Amino acid sequence: MTIKQVITDGDTPIKVWTDELDARSREQLVNLSTLPFIHRHIAAMPDVHAGMGATIGSVIATDKAVIPAAVGVDIGCGMAAVRTSLTADRLDASTLKRVFDQISRDVPVGRDQHRDDRARTQAAEPFADPLAALTDTHPQLRKAFKRFDNWVNQLGTLGSGNHFIEVCRDEDDRIWVMLHSGSRGIGNAMGTYFIDLARREMQRWMIRLPDRDLAYFPEGTQYFDDYVAAVSWAQAYARANREQMMLLVLAALERHLPAFELTDAVIDCHHNYVEREHHFGANVWVTRKGAIRARDGELGIVPGSMGARSYIVRGQGNPESFCSSAHGAGRRMSRTAAEKQFTPADLEAQTQGVICRKDRGVLDEIPGAYKDIDQVMANQADLVEVVHTLKQLVCIKG
Ligand code: 5GP
Ligand code: MN
Ligand code: MN
Repeated sequence: MTIKQVITDGDTPIKVWTDELDARSREQLVNLSTLPFIHRHIAAMPDVHAGMGATIGSVIATDKAVIPAAVGVDIGCGMAAVRTSLTADRLDASTLKRVFDQISRDVPVGRDQHRDDRARTQAAEPFADPLAALTDTHPQLRKAFKRFDNWVNQLGTLGSGNHFIEVCRDEDDRIWVMLHSGSRGIGNAMGTYFIDLARREMQRWMIRLPDRDLAYFPEGTQYFDDYVAAVSWAQAYARANREQMMLLVLAALERHLPAFELTDAVIDCHHNYVEREHHFGANVWVTRKGAIRARDGELGIVPGSMGARSYIVRGQGNPESFCSSAHGAGRRMSRTAAEKQFTPADLEAQTQGVICRKDRGVLDEIPGAYKDIDQVMANQADLVEVVHTLKQLVCIKG
């Protein structure tokens, strides 16, 4: 058992898998624990840190209600990774640089998106009718999507900030592709819309909350159903986004590397999402905000930073964490603090041997801005076991 502390200031206990819990996260979690529909307890993962609205690294099981701000605006954000038959000795620095350039050309990053093409339209097709149905039952949604038409051409794009694509080597020198992204503009529009709608509903019903980001939809209402439908759509879209990117990255590798195959299935895990699960004898909604599902035997991905190791993990199905684990190292400091504290020379030093951007534009993502991933892994030995240890050779940031 490595629960490091149990906080009982609120109405339900908060079980925390680290000794280090910042004051803001503690306050957010205690506020959360006063809601009447929390199931059993709240679990805070070892990478827990304060986020906008919700605490990153929290697992919240709720009975008959969902909190849209707890899921956040990057609905379905998560990771995908796959092992190839290639070994690192086949890849010298100049080949890796060509791979970096090719991926940078083929996968739109930042604000870029694809042009119209048949492959994209085909991949997007299964999402079109459900989206239309959603906007039929909830006409406001159509207005909320300012960039409504972009979702087809954003399928298979990285986005910006913390999202990344990496080519890594594992402990056996095998090459992996790993990437991180979510539901792009349309998921953001849906999340933003429903978070605001929930706040307005709380006002309408005169429900006072310790924090407006705890605004919720009760089960059995139209808005609840609409939110669940929207979030399910966005989660599926986020997964498809990663699938499309994975195809593009593998095709980019094929252009520059010897013939290879994929030796295992692609591992894919959301780390910002809500779904229906069974815990402690009841069917409840489980929101993982910066946490992954780690059922017994289930594979997951725990990335470190653009200069640290990342881990492929196998879940232990620990019921105390609602079968969950940390989703990364977690931030040690804010983006602005990192920009103040570090220089491009620090970034260069902390990403030695990695082909990646080393300019001021990605200083906020410097490894030193993140917690020590190995400490996080040590703190969650009762949640997951390590299957593979990855170190990036190439990292593309949005
Ligand atoms: P989030 O989705 O909460 O922004 O980030 C997920 C986790 O990814 C972070 O907590 C951090 O540990 C990890 N991470 C951030 N940037 C990179 C990167 O460039 N490469 C790798 N391997 N991990 C990263
Ligand atoms: Mn994201
Ligand atoms: Mn993420």
